Amino acid sequence: MDVSHLLDELNDAQREAVTADDNHVLVLAGAGSGKTRVLIHRLAWLIQVGHVSPLSILAVTFTNKAAGEMRERAQDLLQVSTRPLWIGTFHSIAHRMLRMHWREAELDENFQIIDSDDQHRLLRRLIREEGLDENQFPARQAQWFINARKDEGQRPPAIEHMDHPLTAAWVHLYERYQSHCERTGLVDFAELLLRAHELWLKQPDLLGHYRRRLTHLLVDEFQDTNTIQYAWIRMLAGDTGQVFVVGDDDQSIYGWRGARVENVEFFVRDFPRVQTVRLEQNYRSTGNILAAANALIANNEGRMGKNLWTAGEEGQPIQVYAAFNEQEEARFVVERIERWMSEGRRAEQAAIVYRTTAQSRLFEEYLLKASIPYRVYGGLRFFERAEIRDALAYLRMLHNPNDDAAFERIINTPSRGIGQKTVSLLRLQARETGLPLWQAAIECVKQDTLNGRAKNAVSAFLELISAMRERMSDWTLGNQVEGVIEQSELVRHYEKEPREKMEARVENLRELTNAAESFVLTAEDEEAGLSPMQSFLSHAALEAGETQGEAWDDCVQLMTLHSAKGLEFPLVFMVGLEDGLFPHQRSVQESGGRLEEERRLCYVGMTRARELLYLSYAEVRRMFGSESHSRPSRFLDEIPAQLIEEIRPRMGTRSPWVSARPAVASRGGGLGEPGQPFRLGQTVRHRKFGEGTVVTFEGSGEHARVQVNFFDAGPKWLVLAYANLESD
Ligand code: ATP
Ligand code: MG
Repeated sequence: MDVSHLLDELNDAQREAVTADDNHVLVLAGAGSGKTRVLIHRLAWLIQVGHVSPLSILAVTFTNKAAGEMRERAQDLLQVSTRPLWIGTFHSIAHRMLRMHWREAELDENFQIIDSDDQHRLLRRLIREEGLDENQFPARQAQWFINARKDEGQRPPAIEHMDHPLTAAWVHLYERYQSHCERTGLVDFAELLLRAHELWLKQPDLLGHYRRRLTHLLVDEFQDTNTIQYAWIRMLAGDTGQVFVVGDDDQSIYGWRGARVENVEFFVRDFPRVQTVRLEQNYRSTGNILAAANALIANNEGRMGKNLWTAGEEGQPIQVYAAFNEQEEARFVVERIERWMSEGRRAEQAAIVYRTTAQSRLFEEYLLKASIPYRVYGGLRFFERAEIRDALAYLRMLHNPNDDAAFERIINTPSRGIGQKTVSLLRLQARETGLPLWQAAIECVKQDTLNGRAKNAVSAFLELISAMRERMSDWTLGNQVEGVIEQSELVRHYEKEPREKMEARVENLRELTNAAESFVLTAEDEEAGLSPMQSFLSHAALEAGETQGEAWDDCVQLMTLHSAKGLEFPLVFMVGLEDGLFPHQRSVQESGGRLEEERRLCYVGMTRARELLYLSYAEVRRMFGSESHSRPSRFLDEIPAQLIEEIRPRMGTRSPWVSARPAVASRGGGLGEPGQPFRLGQTVRHRKFGEGTVVTFEGSGEHARVQVNFFDAGPKWLVLAYANLESD
């Protein structure tokens, strides 16, 4: 059989991994060295050469989008349908298992997935009900506590808290939360994984069945697996399964969410005869980009150590841009994208990556102004928009009226005269009787516990939902969605908003109907016995956590550094490289390797670039309504100067807030505007006002004035000739 197409495009080390014998394999290699490519070729190799049935392969990726791409690429290689393959994220695979085996997993048949926002609301409610002080027990922290425990595989009884009253309180809350979820058929993201793991533990027969069936397990981005995911893989592999994992310790960026890079070491320890393959040739980036990324990551300690090289061209130096402020940064980036496009390149080849989601807004604004199409990837996700969540909550109620999170969301949306007081009464009833809110509401109406008006309003709501359920039970999915939007009168709810906003919401709701109409039940979900509605709702919940998976037109791509993992683009702008923003403030203040994780994130960002990489920062940034001055990111200093080309704002380009002649900003010192003793951003001392940062210059010669933002005394204009400012 000719298998050259599986091996031709691989180097020796890559071939070694793809063709490895019946061992477990760990491919440990740096960014862009072909790990994902190797994993896909391995998958094809197993089927074509190893005669492994596609039904016996389970491949795990990091996003649903990556799963789709993997399926396509494997199909190209194999020239046969890859439908029977199990490819997905840990969450989607766990979800599917639980749907198929809801009984064994002791779940409600119609269990609903709640996302992080629902979970937060629910916890806030429980904290209030427990009479706990919300300052001492913030819902965010509760969420963090519970999810972290679940990621570690711990149920409340397993958590030690003998001597810690505070921990005991959290554990109690975890217990309350969990029993609430059990009662109302809700499953959060962390629960999906833990429950799927417990399914193995509690059902040895089922585990045995899957061990016999799924003989080959492949995992991409292995460095970002958490404890429970690792345990799940181990359990499924047993003594007979073959495991093939690829990863890069330098790209572990989810430690803050429970990922454990140690799993890479554990893998070698826990599995017998692991064949480790290292890939050292990078095929993605130019020499300069790679050298810069290598130099940066060398500042981390305790790395597993890798040597990455490229046979490619050196390429252009890394372009570093110091902007006056964030507006100017955005304008610059968009200008450069225009230039790129005027050279005949496509918009989709350019990506703007940033540390925090809020940064996307300005770039969107400038791209809009320049009429350049763009797409925010993993930004404000379609399924997370308020109107979409409202409509989905109605659908969830039709499906499972015991879904408390959905009940809370729509009981008074649109407004039907059910106030907080009434809702509190319903909650009280629910708590006392141990019933879901829906049933508690029925009880309240029956028992006349509510006053006349409230009673009427609540029973009207109950009737509305019941009538919708009855009427729509045999409608198609698309019609159900359309019907829900119409009969819930949701649009009325948005009418008080400004016209544009409301129109956008209505448009989104229409889009939801389109999405439902064109929704196709996947073979996997069909096999798992899901109804189209169940499948659609789960899809909405799981997709919301990550990217917009649709195919895109020729658009500039905007995304956070976290969601850029695994991707590559010819042109990359990494923006907002300021200390405090990136590295993020928290990472600088906290110990525990947070700063190193930020550095890995920077490494991930830089290594997305194939041809040209821009790094930019703003000297002044307006955030949360106030302006702050910051130093350029320390990561910039870690890139060797000879690899960098500094671009300065062109003379005559007026920064919007510099009232007179703009001074030239620079990084690293000594390069101020000729004739000016200070640089923008430089720290200076004044006898009376103390220390501050130079923010603006005006005029020249003896009239030169400077604005300094003093740390204690605030911003002041000073005449340079008299101010006697000192600097280091
Ligand atoms: P990351 O760490 O960012 O996930 P990776 O190690 O998974 O990267 P890939 O995405 O698989 O790397 O590959 C990076 C790029 O190099 C891709 O464009 C891929 O097609 C190309 N590539 C990989 N191996 C080879 C090869 N042997 N010959 C030519 N191109 C290759
Ligand atoms: Mg990859």
